[in-house]
Amino acid sequence: MAGISLKKLNKTFGALTVVHDIDLEIADKEFIILVGPSGCGKSTTLRMIAGLEEISGGELLIGDDLVNDVPSKDRDIAMVFQNYALYPHMTVYKNMAFGLHLRRAPKEEIDRKVRETARLLDIEHLLNRKPKALSGGQRQRVALGRAMVRNPEVFLLDEPLSNLDAKLRGTMRTEISKLHRRLNSTFIYVTHDQVEAMTMADRIVVMKSGRILQVDTPQNLYDRPIDMFVAGFIGAPQ
Ligand code: ADP
Ligand code: MG
Repeated sequence: MAGISLKKLNKTFGALTVVHDIDLEIADKEFIILVGPSGCGKSTTLRMIAGLEEISGGELLIGDDLVNDVPSKDRDIAMVFQNYALYPHMTVYKNMAFGLHLRRAPKEEIDRKVRETARLLDIEHLLNRKPKALSGGQRQRVALGRAMVRNPEVFLLDEPLSNLDAKLRGTMRTEISKLHRRLNSTFIYVTHDQVEAMTMADRIVVMKSGRILQVDTPQNLYDRPIDMFVAGFIGAPQ
């Protein structure tokens, strides 16, 4: 069980507060999407949940556990970034297996999980290639695969499709939604793309200047945005 609670979560960089007292309850297995203008604190919020950024104030709970001081490697979380960040010197197989090696999983188990995941993502034929020999879409699948093999309770995705062309984005949207249904994980997903937000999310979180303006289902946000800013962001007539 991995519901996530953000309680008055804050992030400051020196004198600058970039996340202000964020309160958010995310249900186990929910697909939550964060939207908002560039610089509003989406990535910073994700990075605090991942344990990649220190929390300046408030509480972060995963399940019932307060994890403010739990190191990233001890949180059951996988993160997929916009730029994929695959290891260039490793094959696809090794990229996917690496996290399990670090956890000292048995070799047969690693092999089974990597091949199973590769099959699911249709990248079995790429396992011996290096990242530079892959297309953008293939790299994106490998990045997802690398996160999936760990079977994390929580998936964090930071604009994972923004480097893909429109057609591939459409395909990957469907794939990620399928993945969510299949995996039993909680997904927190950042995007600029209104179609992604409206079609993939259970609930959308609209952020502005480090604060949450509104949280609701796509339909309710569309029907009842609290102001023009929210309306603009989710695409209702202005
Ligand atoms: P978003 O992902 O919504 O575009 P970010 O979370 O990346 O926004 O950034 C929020 C704010 O925090 C921005 O003003 C950004 O410049 C600032 N910021 C992010 N990381 C750092 C850092 N390491 N040091 C100082 N300021 C930072
Ligand atoms: Mg960002």
